[in-house]
Formats: sequence, C-alpha cells, structure tokens
Amino acid sequence: MHKLDTLFLDRDGVINMKLDGRYVRNFEEFEFMPGAELAIANLSKIFKRILIVTNQQGIAKGIMSTEDLNSLHQNMLQQLKITGGTIEKIYYCPHLDAANCKCRKPNTGMIEQAIIDFPNLENKNSYLVGDSDSDITAGNEMGLITVKVDNEYTLAKWSEELLSVIE
Ligand SMILES: [Mg+2]
Repeated sequence: MHKLDTLFLDRDGVINMKLDGRYVRNFEEFEFMPGAELAIANLSKIFKRILIVTNQQGIAKGIMSTEDLNSLHQNMLQQLKITGGTIEKIYYCPHLDAANCKCRKPNTGMIEQAIIDFPNLENKNSYLVGDSDSDITAGNEMGLITVKVDNEYTLAKWSEELLSVIE
C-alpha cells in the first residue's frame, strides 16, 4: 500500500481532552480523547510520519516550565508506544498570543520548520487535524488537507473513515 505522507496533529482537543479554562500542566492532568490511542496506532501504519504541532502559551505565562512540558510529552509518547503509535516529532510554540511570533498557529512557523526537518515532506499528500480555526487556517495556508474535529467528530472517528476508504 502506498503510504500517505505526513499527519500533523494538534494536541489539546485532538489527542487529549481540554481542561475547562486551564492548561494541562503535567501527565496527571493529561487524559486521552476517547479512542485516540488506538487511532494513532492505526494512523501510524498508513502515514509515513506523524508530527504534533501545538500552541503552549502556558509556558510564557509561567504556568508550566519547558521541563514540565517535555516530561508530559515523554510520558504521552511512552503510553502511545504501548498501543503501537509512533509520533516522530513534537513541535510546540511556547510564546504568548500577544507576542506575534511566527510559530503560534494560525501562523505557519511550526509546519515550515517540519518541512525543513523533513525535506521530502509532500504537503499535498499530508493532513492536518485540529479542533480550532487557527489549526485549520495554518494547515490551509501550507497546502495541507485539513480536518476539523470536535468532541463528537473525534480523531478516532476520522481515522475509522479514512481507514475504511483506503483499505
Ligand atoms: Mg486544540
């Protein structure tokens, strides 16, 4: 089977549940969305690579440190590995919304960095899944196929649909 190229995933609201009005600061506060672990395992088989692109301005706000975030991500990757899911790289933007950086979605800096890191990445054969308009805007700007998910139409639902059409 010819593999799809790259799957860009937003994190909060796609891989894990959002918390009401606060940031997920550590792995104890991290809860996978229903079916997300299995979905990522299945998607790992049909995409060449999966990357995460996530805005984490809680760092600039001093709510969590870079070490906290890295440790959370290590735990998340380990948990995903148990189910068979592989995420090749995690890009995060630690800056404040007000900082107007290049990396915070809807800006495209994180995706552009991924294209530098993976020079054979084919935008047109790649997807971005997010739950916010800013995700979709960034993905569209870079010529990716974009998918908007929510609490009903989840990553798990989308992956089932995708698997049923390509298998
Ligand atoms: Mg999100």
